[in-house]
Amino acid sequence: VEVPEKETKKGKNIPKIKNIIAIASGKGGVGKSTVASNLSIALVKMGFKVGLLDADIYGPSIPTMFDAVNEKPISKENKIEPIESYGVKLLSLGFFAGSNQAVVWRGAMASKAIHQLLHDSNWGELDFLLIDLPPGTGDIHLSIVQEVPVTGAVIVSTPQHIALADVKKGLGMFQMPEINVPVLGLIENMAYFTPKELPDNKYYLFGKKGVQKLSESLEIPFLGEIPIIQSIREASDYGRPAVLQDNEIISNIYSNICKKMV
Ligand code: ADP
Repeated sequence: VEVPEKETKKGKNIPKIKNIIAIASGKGGVGKSTVASNLSIALVKMGFKVGLLDADIYGPSIPTMFDAVNEKPISKENKIEPIESYGVKLLSLGFFAGSNQAVVWRGAMASKAIHQLLHDSNWGELDFLLIDLPPGTGDIHLSIVQEVPVTGAVIVSTPQHIALADVKKGLGMFQMPEINVPVLGLIENMAYFTPKELPDNKYYLFGKKGVQKLSESLEIPFLGEIPIIQSIREASDYGRPAVLQDNEIISNIYSNICKKMV
């Protein structure tokens, strides 16, 4: 039975997509795309049907992380077919530009592209569509919440003071009346580093538990902390996200975050 499309105040439902979750960050480089890619695969491992839309106009990195840089989605019956990698259905602004090509998306162009990726694509039935947002606050965020009813947002940050200041701005944006998206929680990425030679030592390179403390003071759920792990970085660069490795510690970190999110 087809669910009838219904116009909501905040954008048109995509039939057959149960939850749309925006993955946001205040600053760039805090690991938002790495977290989005690992969470999407962790959700697949839990048995969910998952899509990932890379809406980071400044540097779409999802194609690299999913070893899909040279993929070009095809159109079938006027609908864009997402690429499938590691069980996740993917669409990225990066698929529509050469890999070394600089693309400067004008606001209106980017909004139109996002509209097509959301509504003119064949996502099929999904439990979760994760959207990897650009860092910060801006037009794209506004267009997305106007295009589709976003179920909730997850904010990724390092514990660094200057990153936390931007998390607060991001929170403010989601709470604005015209956006009004519930924040599902905060994730502390690059929380600490443990050298192999000193397994009992944690070095808090970017400050200790800054994100956790912020979530406690603002009474926003804390979804978990992810240490700095070399293989997380290597796995992303290699195009095979870290949760696919046979590493129980990494898998547990991400699956515990997913359990709190769903
Ligand atoms: P953003 O999407 O916020 O710009 P990325 O996901 O591209 O950030 O991450 C920035 C860099 O940090 C990448 O090189 C990535 O591989 C690395 N990285 C992210 N999280 C971790 C982590 N927990 N441990 C090690 N490296 C990480």
